[in-house]
Amino acid sequence: MPHYKTQIYKGHIIDTPTMEQYRIYENGYIVVEDGKVVDVFATLPEAYLDIPVSNYGDNIIIPGFNDLHIHAPQFPNRGLCLDEPLMEWLFDCTFPLEAKFIDLEFAKKVYRVLIKELWKVGNLRSLIYNTIHYDATLLLFDMLVQSGLGGYIGKVNMDIESPEYLRESTKQSLLETEQFIIETLYKSDLVKPIIAPRFVPSCSPELLTGLGQLAQKYQVPVMSHLSEELNEIKIVKQMYPSFPTYGSIYNYFGLFGQTPTVMAHCIYSNKEERALMKKNGVWAAHCPSSNLNLGSGLMPVRIFLNEGIKVGLGSDVAGGGTLSMFPSIIDAISTSKLVWLFSGKMLTPLSSSEAFYMATKGSGSFFGNVGSFEPGNDFDALVIDDHDILQLDYNLQERIERLLYVGSHENIIARFVQGRNLPEPIFD
Ligand SMILES: [Zn+2]
Repeated sequence: MPHYKTQIYKGHIIDTPTMEQYRIYENGYIVVEDGKVVDVFATLPEAYLDIPVSNYGDNIIIPGFNDLHIHAPQFPNRGLCLDEPLMEWLFDCTFPLEAKFIDLEFAKKVYRVLIKELWKVGNLRSLIYNTIHYDATLLLFDMLVQSGLGGYIGKVNMDIESPEYLRESTKQSLLETEQFIIETLYKSDLVKPIIAPRFVPSCSPELLTGLGQLAQKYQVPVMSHLSEELNEIKIVKQMYPSFPTYGSIYNYFGLFGQTPTVMAHCIYSNKEERALMKKNGVWAAHCPSSNLNLGSGLMPVRIFLNEGIKVGLGSDVAGGGTLSMFPSIIDAISTSKLVWLFSGKMLTPLSSSEAFYMATKGSGSFFGNVGSFEPGNDFDALVIDDHDILQLDYNLQERIERLLYVGSHENIIARFVQGRNLPEPIFD
C-alpha cells in the first residue's frame, strides 16, 4: 500500500529529547505521517523504501524555535529606551507606542513586518501579547492564522495604575476579553487565544477575579509577568501586603496553573514562589536578553531546572532587541555564567544543549507535543545550511554548537509547521 500522507526527510538530524545532550543522527531519516513524526531512523526501514525522500544532503534538520514571551506592539521599539529600568521604560516608551494600536492601519503595518520576521527567524510558535485593543488583537490573530505559524494571542488587560490613554474600565476589559475568546477559540488549530493580564500592578482585584473565571469557564491558558524587577515587586507588596509571594496573588485569582500558565522572567522568585510554580506546573519564560537590556537582574535558571520547573526561552521584544532565538540562547548561557560566578561557582552554567532545549522543547511543550522529533510530535522543523561558517572539518556536535554562536537565522533554508513546508507569509 502506498503511504499517501507519508513524507521522509534526510539530513543530519539534531534535537534534544532530554536537555543533557544533543541527539544526533548523521545522514538520518525522519518519517512524518499526517504532520506528525513517526520516528527518526539511522537507516530507513524497509516499509518506507518505496516512498520518495526529500534529501537535504549535508544540511542539518533541527526542531523549530518557540518563543514563550513577546509583545507584538513593541516591535517598532526594538533597541530604543534601553537605558531605562522597567517601570520608567513602560511609562516613557512602551505605553505611548501601545496606545497607537487603536489605529488598525498602523497596527497592520507593524504586524505585517513582525509576522514575516517570526517566519524569517524560525520562531514557529510564539506566545504573543497584543495591547488592550480588541480590534487590533483580532487582526493580529487573523494575520498569524494566515501566515501558517502557530501561537497564542492575548488581549492585554489593564484597568489601574496605567496612563489614562491606555486604561480600560474593568467591565469593558472583561467583556472584550470574553468576546475575543468566543470569537477565536475554534477558529484555528494552530493559533489560540490566551488570557493576558499585563501584571499585578496594572490590574484591579475585580479584573483579576474576572479573568480567573474566564480562564476556568473557557479552559483558556494564561500568561503574565512575575518577579521581574525589584521596584515592581515593591509595588506588588504594597498592594497585597498579606500575600506571601507575588505568585500567590495570581494563584488566589485562579491565574497560576489552574489552566496552563506561563510566567515571564521569575528573576526574583523565592523558594516558596518556585515551589508553587512547580506544584501548579507553571512554566517560567526565561528572557535573558530583556533582563540584561533593562538591567532587571540575572535569573538563576539552574535552580529552576534543579527543582524540576518547566523553563522555556522568551525574546521579550521589545525588552529584548530581536526575535531571533540565536542571541537569546547565547544570552541564556552568558547569564548562567554570571550567576555561576556570583554564586561562588555553586550554580553550574547552562550547557549548549540545555540552552538549545529551552528554545525548542522547553518552550515547545507549552504548545503540545512540539520541540523535538520524538514519535507522535508535530513535525515542526528548520533546515539549516551552515556551510558559510564551516572553516574546519567539524563533527555535528561542533556544528550545532558553532551555529548558535557564529550562525544566525540567515542559515535557515526551510521551515516546517506540522509537516507543512511554510512559504514566506504574504499580506496585502
Ligand atoms: Zn513582557
